[in-house]
Amino acid sequence: MKQIISDLFRQIHGRAPSVVTRAPGRIEFIGNHTDYNGGTVLGASIDRGVTVAVAPRTDGKRNFHSLFTGKTVTLAAAETLKQHGEASWVNYPLGVIAAMPAFGLSAPEGFDYVATSDLPTGAGLSSSAAIELASGLAFLGLTGRQADRETLVKIGKHAENNFVGVPCGILDQGVSGFGKANHLVFIDCRGPRFDTVPMPAGAHFWIFNTHTKHALVDGLYATRHRECMEAAKALGVSQLVEARPAQVEAAQGKISADAYSRAKHVVDEIARVGLAVKSLENGDLATVGGLLTASHRSSQNYFGNSTEELDFLVDKLTTTPRVYGARLTGGGFGGAVMALTDESFGEDQAKTVAAAYEAKYGARPDILHMLTGEGAQVL
Ligand code: ADP
Ligand code: MG
Repeated sequence: MKQIISDLFRQIHGRAPSVVTRAPGRIEFIGNHTDYNGGTVLGASIDRGVTVAVAPRTDGKRNFHSLFTGKTVTLAAAETLKQHGEASWVNYPLGVIAAMPAFGLSAPEGFDYVATSDLPTGAGLSSSAAIELASGLAFLGLTGRQADRETLVKIGKHAENNFVGVPCGILDQGVSGFGKANHLVFIDCRGPRFDTVPMPAGAHFWIFNTHTKHALVDGLYATRHRECMEAAKALGVSQLVEARPAQVEAAQGKISADAYSRAKHVVDEIARVGLAVKSLENGDLATVGGLLTASHRSSQNYFGNSTEELDFLVDKLTTTPRVYGARLTGGGFGGAVMALTDESFGEDQAKTVAAAYEAKYGARPDILHMLTGEGAQVL
């Protein structure tokens, strides 16, 4: 990986990079819409990600190149204006630069930059967090400063929330930053507190990316966010994490139907995350799978963030042998379904599920067999 991007860097910028970094994408394992409600979540860093190479310049210019667009975007010294159109991908590294001073870190001056990726973008695997964390580590290398993992994660989130303008919780950056091969990352979003949980041997991840996306997905995410805050208020708690499942049940009929359903999904989901951690510790993948599928049914029945296409895939997968469980992964309203399987589930079974989907919806989902991978690192 380091050799490939170093060669590319030489072709584009005519010299060797001084720092090469890599950060992975992630799968939301379980913990759907829990992060911004102060809850807990489990994610997996995957073996695909974004690699960044940089070298300092003395003239203050910043040259950003991504294989993603194949073009170089040049910014004049100290330029930090938000970019638009084809150059808008630069907002991810630029947002990191803009965030660094808020964390007591000096931003890098001039540099040449190249990003490559083996992660599909917009597939719910968080390529945005991967580019933020790989860029953050590269810029720390350029300025010769150290930062702990939590600061790196917070810089990435700050960039995405405040510069790019996506109100994501800490899941994406937290998993990319704290990920570990053969482990899941557990996040208690209230601290935040980060931990890792060993993944039992023989567990495999399969992603089915439908490429469907609800036209109003950003607005729907914001609506769910608002509904959760309203539900917390109706239950008399400051965040939904503070409400107990029995309290939510007792409020049914007393608070609005929407407030009840959103609260039920989030509060039950937080309980499922806790059960999943225990079951993983016991190596009980059958129970973990059941929790994943229950999470999906809750999205379908209470949170209203599933779609007919995602439900179809979950129905198919959960009636396929060797599948422990399946659920939508990420924000929902389209996107991808994740299945947890044993090691003998293979390409043939995955293709059978994809073919059934294609017969019904006329488009074939991408099949991605994912392994876990290391978190953000300097290569
Ligand atoms: P996701 O995080 O699910 O992949 P997002 O819409 O949050 O989807 O982020 C995708 C965006 O991140 C891309 O449109 C692009 O602007 C940026 N991005 C991700 N990877 C790269 C890369 N290797 N080079 C340039 N931009 C990238
Ligand atoms: Mg993203």
